[in-house]
Amino acid sequence: MIRVEIKPADLGESGWNAILPSRVATSALERDIECDYLVVGAGFAGLSAARRITQLEPGASIAILEAQQVASGPAGRNSGFMIDLPHALATGRYGGENSQDLRNIRMNRAAIAFAAECAQSFGFLDEAFDPCGKINAAASQVGLEHNTSYARHLEALDEPFEMLDAVAMQGICGSDYYHGGLKTPGTAIIQPALYIRSLADALVEQAGCQLFENSALLELSRKGEHWLAATATGSVTSQRVILAVNGLIETFGFYRHRLMHINLYASMTRELSREEIDQLGGDARWGFTPSDPIGSTVRRIDGSGGTRLVIRNRCTYEPHLSLPADRLQPIADDHARTFYRRFPMLKQVEMEYCWSGRLCLSRNDVWALGELEPGLYSACCQNGLGTTRGTIAGIIAAEMACNSSDRSLVPDYVPETLPQRLFPEPFMTLGARSLIKLKEWRAGKEL
Ligand SMILES: Cc1cc2nc3c(=O)[nH]c(=O)nc-3n(C[C@H](O)[C@H](O)[C@H](O)COP(=O)(O)OP(=O)(O)OC[C@H]3O[C@@H](n4cnc5c(N)ncnc54)[C@H](O)[C@@H]3O)c2cc1C
Repeated sequence: MIRVEIKPADLGESGWNAILPSRVATSALERDIECDYLVVGAGFAGLSAARRITQLEPGASIAILEAQQVASGPAGRNSGFMIDLPHALATGRYGGENSQDLRNIRMNRAAIAFAAECAQSFGFLDEAFDPCGKINAAASQVGLEHNTSYARHLEALDEPFEMLDAVAMQGICGSDYYHGGLKTPGTAIIQPALYIRSLADALVEQAGCQLFENSALLELSRKGEHWLAATATGSVTSQRVILAVNGLIETFGFYRHRLMHINLYASMTRELSREEIDQLGGDARWGFTPSDPIGSTVRRIDGSGGTRLVIRNRCTYEPHLSLPADRLQPIADDHARTFYRRFPMLKQVEMEYCWSGRLCLSRNDVWALGELEPGLYSACCQNGLGTTRGTIAGIIAAEMACNSSDRSLVPDYVPETLPQRLFPEPFMTLGARSLIKLKEWRAGKEL
């Protein structure tokens, strides 16, 4: 019997979810049901897995258990960059070995194509999924050098890009903070909470899946050929179960001492007035990732929640998967400082939301993906690109669970080794925290 240890939720309300119209959650599981496939977790991995099963086995009965309301977890808390290019956070570099990078690019693009297909066939709003590319913004000489070396790497990969100077950057974002940018066309930018809500609702309304929100899986046990999954108020009996809970897979007792749990933090401004929009200038929507991976991600959004700016920076290593409640305020203050440095013309604009969210890395940048026990699959540990890699993990785990030989969506996927073991404590935590501090300090104006 597997007993799941429940961890506190992420801190703060995600602005992405808060600016959307309120949504009525599906009911919690309050009875005993049976199904062909059970998916645990309604993030990128879980919902992509459910979608893939509907494609491979139309008519199969699929239940999804989600501990919180859909889009309240990390899937609705991220910065929304579905990035096609290499982005290895654990190593702090954007590029690696060429052949491996080309394979990763093809896999990431397969995930983006899968998301695009979902958006198109289920009729998502344009705001939910926008294949508009992104800009790696440089705010210092060091940032420019990062971009130049990244550009050389992209040239070697035969990947298109465009270099932007400070004037072009100001034309886009309205601020003279940036010295240059590197624009690449393959990234899709999503409104993460809207994308996740839209996919979850479409799977229920258009594809016949059963979704139970506020229904944390608490116990999992074998019952003959089946798995019996128990929540506080009901149970699901299913032959095949996919665990799509990212780093929380450790709370199920799997991959212990192999996963690194990182928290990221973001803030969103209140809606800008017409006058403030004019003061800012620039384009209506844009997305900047930092030239130094530890730096600040900044977006301007312009949709149903009005015109707002969103900033993400700071990260912390949290081996116990929980955060002290007072962690958010100093980080919110940092966000405000880094924001006003970039946009002094908006100094009267307050941040309305600040939140944290977990992500999961492995030292060797591999997934925790595969069959754990007969009929029980993991689609976890997405590393730095959780939106794309979570989508891929879901697709692959679904294909494994369906025992399908159809690998046409992500033909480049090859099974990987296990996530490497972490260093013993306290060295692991001390080392990871010191490294983050050093990188944040070195990031200078990029932060
Ligand atoms: C501030 C921030 C910015 C980020 N920016 C980006 C970005 O721009 N691009 C990018 O690619 N990634 C980004 N990420 C990372 C990305 O959000 C995650 O990697 C991604 O959400 C992982 O997807 P997932 O489906 O594997 O897991 P999750 O999104 O974590 O979904 C797992 C779900 O499982 C549920 N769950 C857990 N335990 C149980 C249980 N016992 N029973 C039932 N349900 C359970 C959780 O509630 C959760 O909803 C960012 C993250 C943060 C926090």
